[in-house]
This record gives sequence, structure tokens and C-alpha cells, in this order.
Amino acid sequence: MKYGIVYAYWSNDWEGDYIPAIKRAAACGFDVLEIFTPMLLTLPKSKLDEIKATAKEYNIELTYLIGLPKEYDLSSEEEGVRNAGIVYVKKILDVIYYLGGNCFSGINFCAWSNFDGKINKQRRLENSVKSIKNLSTVAEEYGISYNLEITNRFEQFLLNTSAEAVEFTKMVGSPNVNILLDVFHMNIEEDSMYEAICTAGDKLGHFHVGTNNRRPPRDCMVNWGQIAKGLKEVGYDKVITLEPLVKVGGTVALDSKVWRDMTNHADEAQMDADAKAGLAYMKNLMK
Ligand code: MN
Repeated sequence: MKYGIVYAYWSNDWEGDYIPAIKRAAACGFDVLEIFTPMLLTLPKSKLDEIKATAKEYNIELTYLIGLPKEYDLSSEEEGVRNAGIVYVKKILDVIYYLGGNCFSGINFCAWSNFDGKINKQRRLENSVKSIKNLSTVAEEYGISYNLEITNRFEQFLLNTSAEAVEFTKMVGSPNVNILLDVFHMNIEEDSMYEAICTAGDKLGHFHVGTNNRRPPRDCMVNWGQIAKGLKEVGYDKVITLEPLVKVGGTVALDSKVWRDMTNHADEAQMDADAKAGLAYMKNLMK
């Protein structure tokens, strides 16, 4: 098992300078840094090479996230929007492949936080399946796991539970299209996190953890024992990424609705200590 942390834990914005973050993740004992991808398309090759070299030097694996904007909605009723989304995500997969990555996750099957009021869910699902089938051939060619992040009802309407996700992956039928379950979202939508993990089974491609209010893992309302039991039962051995979203005042806070300081006014050293404690908590849980 490898353990990661999202770049956004330390940042007010989803994207920024990943070089110091790679070093910081390594210094805190993580194996993986999880970063957002849109900005990567704007970076010169020299910067991409620097990111890749730094990750290698510090023995950090990079994993990749996205929340698609509505102009690239892969479930859209408009064919032009779906096609634009396919072209865009192919470019993202190209850059991930260039960087040597194999784990692409997030709301990568429809748009993030876009509800237009007249939703035909069945048709939107069929549209999305078609788009993802198309993209799965690229994921297969590149050896990238295309992980659908199952998020709560306030962020998208297409796939809110593990059972819905499994049905979707059956319709797509690609070994490279898998499922990302996230403790925060499961806590809202599932009856049982243990059952949700077992339902995903060997389609579980990635896993996000945090407390019920998105702090680094520790004793809280989350039933961690049930999570560990599920992960062990399905033989999960990929990456567990800590996704604490705790800072006020930036785009991360705006998009994830953080309206109060969730760090307990931690300074930078304390932020690192909290990340390390969360990592130790997860490692102890999964022993
Ligand atoms: Mn997540």
C-alpha cells in the first residue's frame, strides 16, 4: 500500500508550484502527492521535466485529479460539448502519460457542480458511458487507471454511490475504468462504508480519506474499523490518499465550501505535524 496527500492540503488554490510540495510530501513521509491537472497543459516541457525529475529524486509518485468544467461535460446532451470534453481529457491523459503517471481520478465523467435543472439522468448516463468508452481506449494504451470519483449529491448527479458506479463500469467494460471511493462522500451517500467498499471490490482503483469534516484522519464520527475491514477484504493495495481540505480563503475553500478555519489555526509546522499524524493513523489502521 502507498500513502498520498493532496497538494490542496497545503494550498489555497488547487494548482500551484508542485516542486516544493513534492519535497514537503516526501519530508512528511508520504509516497504519493496528488495534484490537479488543468494547469499541466499550460506548462512548458521544461517545467514538466522538472516536476518529473523532482518527483523521481524525492521518490514521490504523482497521482492526478480533475473536476471537469461544464464546457467539457462528458455527459452533456450536446454532442459538441461531449466531443470537446473528450479532446480535452485526451490531452490530460497525454500529459499524465508524459509524466509517467498511471492514476487519473476525480469528476472525470461529467461536470463538477453543474446542475441545469432539467436533468434526464438515464440519457446523461448513456452519454457519459459513450464518452468514457472512447477515453478508456487511451487509458488502456497508456496503462492509466481512469478512476471515477463517486462524490455526493451536491457535487454531481450521475454517480453518487458505489453500486451506481459498478453498474456504470460494467456498461463501459474496460479494465482501466475503475472507481474512487472517498470517505467524505460515502459518509453522506452510503448506508455502510464497508458494504460500499465490498460492492466496488476489485474495481476499487483509488481511495480518499479524511474525517467526516475533511480533516486529516483521526478518531472521529467515521467508523474506521469498517473501512479497514472492507479494504482488507477486497485486497486493496493501491494508493490511499489523504484529502484534508482545511484552509479558508481560496478556490479550494470556495469549491469545497470551507467557511471556517479547519486547521485550528495551525502554522506551517503544525500543518505538517497534522499530516504526519494522519498518515500514522492510516498506517496503524491498515496494519
Ligand atoms: Mn475526494
